[in-house]
Amino acid sequence: MAGFLHDWRLTVTGARPLAEAIVTAGGVLTKEINPVTMESKRIQGLYFCGESIDLQARTGGYNLQMAFTTGWIAGESAATSCGLRVEGASPSAGAVGYVDKKLFETVS
Ligand SMILES: Cc1cc2nc3c(=O)[nH]c(=O)nc-3n(C[C@H](O)[C@H](O)[C@H](O)COP(=O)(O)OP(=O)(O)OC[C@H]3O[C@@H](n4cnc5c(N)ncnc54)[C@H](O)[C@@H]3O)c2cc1C
Repeated sequence: MAGFLHDWRLTVTGARPLAEAIVTAGGVLTKEINPVTMESKRIQGLYFCGESIDLQARTGGYNLQMAFTTGWIAGESAATSCGLRVEGASPSAGAVGYVDKKLFETVS
């Protein structure tokens, strides 16, 4: 029994349908986005966040964190560029560092 459990082989026969997908691959290349503001380097005034960016990670909260953090930064940056004052707390330095280093340099 122990030998069976330690040598249990599975054969991949295909992928599940898109409707069951957890995260999508592809999107806007990270090298085309300013990670400090999430603004497009190609089109001024255009901001990206979440799964519109070519970033994906294993399940475990990384995709959600990426969506929350980039969404906050993109929204705040877009509002600031319009001259709007953004009330409330800013994302922590750690969150920005996560986007800047962990995602944009390691994963991509
Ligand atoms: C079943 C499942 C389980 C998951 N589990 C995990 C997990 O455990 N950990 C993890 O990190 N990630 C997980 N993910 C991935 C994570 O949920 C996503 O990466 C994240 O939610 C993406 O956020 P987003 O804001 O980019 O996109 P979304 O959350 O998809 O938000 C896009 C929003 O835009 C709206 N929208 C679309 N078109 C229009 C339009 N034309 N006009 C206006 N609004 C529009 C949609 O209705 C939607 O509300 C899971 C995903 C799924 C599907």
